[in-house]
Amino acid sequence: MSIQAILDNARREKRVLLTEVESKQVIEEAGINVVKAKLARSIKEAVAVSKEFGFPVVLKVASPDIVHKSDIGGVKVGLTNATQVSKAYREIMTSVKQKEPKATIHGVSVQPMAKPGVEIIIGMSKDPQFGPVIMFGLGGILVEILKDVSFRIVPLAKRDAREMIRDIKGYPVLEGYRGQPPSDVAALEDMILKVSAFVERTPVIKELDLNPVFAYKDGAIAVDARIVLEADAPK
Ligand code: ADP
Ligand code: MG
Repeated sequence: MSIQAILDNARREKRVLLTEVESKQVIEEAGINVVKAKLARSIKEAVAVSKEFGFPVVLKVASPDIVHKSDIGGVKVGLTNATQVSKAYREIMTSVKQKEPKATIHGVSVQPMAKPGVEIIIGMSKDPQFGPVIMFGLGGILVEILKDVSFRIVPLAKRDAREMIRDIKGYPVLEGYRGQPPSDVAALEDMILKVSAFVERTPVIKELDLNPVFAYKDGAIAVDARIVLEADAPK
């Protein structure tokens, strides 16, 4: 489905939150490297899609009403065979139905398990004064507790992307430490610029989060994606 078709569909259903599967399709169309995800509506489908991608896979609850999937037992990683996929599907459904009984559940998002990397977050939100602003930071505890992030106003130039990465206190983590290889900072710059260009030409997007992105010695890939649309913007 094209970006426009996904946005139109959400609008028709009067939704502003895109699911992870939809968000990733949009992000991929925008040329951003992302772990592909496919919706499975039953255990049988989940197993079939897992075999199509190849093991190990990750299963996540697919719902337009759920923002933080792992908080409610909605994410199972490192599944290596069909039995584990079936079990994970059942466990996700039981947990999510118990914790979010009112949520509409489409099924699960099935995706390949990405190899571990340095966790990054790239986000966009709209400032009432400056409009779209891009945020960059290290993922996990560093962002949540230390708020070690940097911001730049859209549209970003190459130099902004370069600087905002080097601005965070945690930058040495990306240079490699204790024998860890350095991360591909050029790939992160490229991803930031693609997000900037994409949100600039797609004003209906109110918020965008790539959290986490895994950064590697070579390349980077978005592992989770979330897009929120403007409630009353013209399409
Ligand atoms: P949420 O942010 O909604 O709780 P995520 O999709 O970010 O859910 O998943 C939670 C965590 O699981 C991620 O931070 C990441 O560490 C891990 N994870 C998710 N998807 C994958 C994947 N495809 N490959 C490897 N790890 C993953
Ligand atoms: Mg996430």
